Amino acid sequence: MSTPVEALVAELDGVIESAIANAPRSLQTRIGPSEMGIPCDLRLGYKLLGHPETNASRTVAWKPFIGTAVHDALTIIFALANHALPSFREDGIPRYHVEEKVVVGQVNGDDIDGTTDLYVDGTVIDWKIVGGPSLRKYKAEGPGDQYQRQVHTYGAGWAQLGFPVKNVAIYFLPRDQEWKQRHFWHEPYDQALALETVSKVDGIAKLTSALGAAALPLLRRAPAWCRSCPWLAPGSTDLARGCPGHPDATAPDSSLTDLIAQ
Ligand code: SF4
Repeated sequence: MSTPVEALVAELDGVIESAIANAPRSLQTRIGPSEMGIPCDLRLGYKLLGHPETNASRTVAWKPFIGTAVHDALTIIFALANHALPSFREDGIPRYHVEEKVVVGQVNGDDIDGTTDLYVDGTVIDWKIVGGPSLRKYKAEGPGDQYQRQVHTYGAGWAQLGFPVKNVAIYFLPRDQEWKQRHFWHEPYDQALALETVSKVDGIAKLTSALGAAALPLLRRAPAWCRSCPWLAPGSTDLARGCPGHPDATAPDSSLTDLIAQ
């Protein structure tokens, strides 16, 4: 007898949802360059402490999963593009450096590394797969502090390896629109911005390392996609049990689901 359709759907959902929940990036506990520019110091503090997540309303990270899948496809595309180049066949030096790991700096004595999507010809490029409202916002207003800092820290990583870094870029690719809607943002590499970003996180890490959860009330709060923050606990009066959120966190959260795991 075949499985009833409801049970079959539940089985399929279970396989998919488990794969998403257990993807390496979902399980990552160490802070990475994609989070270092988060404007909320308290959220960074929770992350650095490895504090248990409190936000029960977070759902299956479907949109980030789409972003990860597109990243994987682009990795294959550019790896194949390398092999198609006569120069690569001659000297084995890739034009496109795809998904290579770089160390962006040290936090509390530990190397912080991250995987860059693409380095080519002095430009460090990060893919962002985003929905329509976010895409319009990035076209109008630029990438925002967090994405901007992320890509500059990658720049620092490449520079440390001895590669020339002239520009950093974010290629915003539409998740649910046509290819022609894509948007390539770029600016000159700014080493000072990268160092400042790492230095701020290093300071928070030293504080949380010294004080543990007692450091949490000392950290500045800022609206950083509170509704999807792993440490949101509405109504909480004890930061050790979770954060009540920021009073200014009223904007829609559409961009958060873009930023996780990209
Ligand atoms: S809920 Fe908002 S204010 Fe609180 S830690 Fe998270 S991002 Fe920061």
